[in-house]
Amino acid sequence: MTRIRLEAVTKVFGSGPDAVAAVDNVSLSVESGELYFLLGPSGCGKTTLLRIIAGLTEPTGGRVFFDDRDITNLPVQRRNTAMVFQNYALWPHMTVDQNVQFGPKMKGAPRRRRGELARSQLARVQMVAFGSRKPNQLSGGQQQRVALARALAAGADALLLDEPLSNLDARLRLHMRGELRRLVKETHTTAVYVTHDQTEALSMADRIAVMDTGQIVQIGPARQLYDRPATRFVAGFLGEANFIDGSCADAGPPAKIETPIGSVRAPDAADAGVGQTVTCCVRPERISILTELTERGNDSAGANVIPAKIESSTYLGEICQYTCRLGNDALWKVCILGHGGGALASGAQVKLSFSPQDVCVLTK
Ligand code: ADP
Ligand code: MG
Repeated sequence: MTRIRLEAVTKVFGSGPDAVAAVDNVSLSVESGELYFLLGPSGCGKTTLLRIIAGLTEPTGGRVFFDDRDITNLPVQRRNTAMVFQNYALWPHMTVDQNVQFGPKMKGAPRRRRGELARSQLARVQMVAFGSRKPNQLSGGQQQRVALARALAAGADALLLDEPLSNLDARLRLHMRGELRRLVKETHTTAVYVTHDQTEALSMADRIAVMDTGQIVQIGPARQLYDRPATRFVAGFLGEANFIDGSCADAGPPAKIETPIGSVRAPDAADAGVGQTVTCCVRPERISILTELTERGNDSAGANVIPAKIESSTYLGEICQYTCRLGNDALWKVCILGHGGGALASGAQVKLSFSPQDVCVLTK
């Protein structure tokens, strides 16, 4: 169980006018046994950062620590990390058993011990029965489970996963999320998991570091990032978000923001001063739709209420998703649970209601 710490890590590719800072002054710390996610769009530097932790890429600047050891200059084979990639990377000429035994064998474990280790790790991923097969006789999901067993059997200090589920079909990916998290937690492994898939990160992570163009924008548990995003980028990247710009009229708490669609109340104004331009962010599922029928008797005292017109609706089984046009022509998404029967018609004039508690004020 190893704690991983990065201090002001930078990686610049190329030089002169073509130089790209793939990783730009990143500091973070992954606790022992933590399942830590690096989440961000393609090209933001996730793989480069993971390769720096593994020792496959040398940073241009900064330090890397495992516990209190500075391992910045330690070669990859002496770091004791295990990597799992998108494309499984099992040795095709070896059986499943031989693949899983490879790490312990390299470390000099005796044959019997290797056999036991392989069996117990294969049991964890429900692949014991496939020990004598070659990788090309397995499905993608089975290969990925073996790759995971191999990584765990190697007894690595840290497990580094780079988009490990992205080659699997949707159903299997969903199943493997839960399974992977269980495995990492059962073995108390410190794991860094790279993905561009926000639902993967939200559903699996202990903590998430959101990356944008080489930098970390925000670090926190899923719920905190979703409910209290620090920037518009984080709000928009993690799930759906509706935005309206306005001017801070009262910094609060509670705060009041004057917007083109009326004043919006929020718990606080994220340190904005009076008169400052800010952005209000509201999640689609925190909004209710009031019609003439439902408005009467609806206790919306204290809520923000703004007029809107239904543009279109999409029925998705358990939820119905509406696109609504506000007075300033902005389009907002609203998600209503179990609204199949009484779908609202396009063109209907309605009001959107949301609690001040569900408004997040952003200054960046
Ligand atoms: P991600 O994994 O988030 O998609 P990468 O870490 O692969 O992002 O890449 C980050 C940036 O660094 C990209 O602009 C990419 O083109 C660049 N990059 C990555 N590896 C190299 C390399 N070996 N040489 C030059 N540029 C690279
Ligand atoms: Mg990548």
